[in-house]
Amino acid sequence: MITKEQAENLPKYTPSPMFKDLPDFVKDPKNFYTIENKLLKAIRSTCNHEEVVEWHKCKKCQKKVANRQQKMKEYGFTSPQQYFAWKQVMDIIVNKKKVPVKENENIVKGI
Ligand SMILES: [Zn+2]
Repeated sequence: MITKEQAENLPKYTPSPMFKDLPDFVKDPKNFYTIENKLLKAIRSTCNHEEVVEWHKCKKCQKKVANRQQKMKEYGFTSPQQYFAWKQVMDIIVNKKKVPVKENENIVKGI
């Protein structure tokens, strides 16, 4: 049992500035796979390009890329960095992925 004084000196919860503006639906780990599947469907193409250059020139595939970016905006992501940081944090929560403390701090800071 900790004393009242010890309790008052515990570090206060401060939401990460990286994620504070994301909607609650996106922050909820139980929606992680739903969101990931929707984003995957948005970019999935029937093309089978062997070269990145071909993929880059393909109008159909580039339309898919734009689709995905639009979907990401709809979910409230403001940058690819924010999305990748969110994905890493969700991976830790949902898949119980273990990461070293230092790396964990960097993810939350968006480094
Ligand atoms: Zn294509």
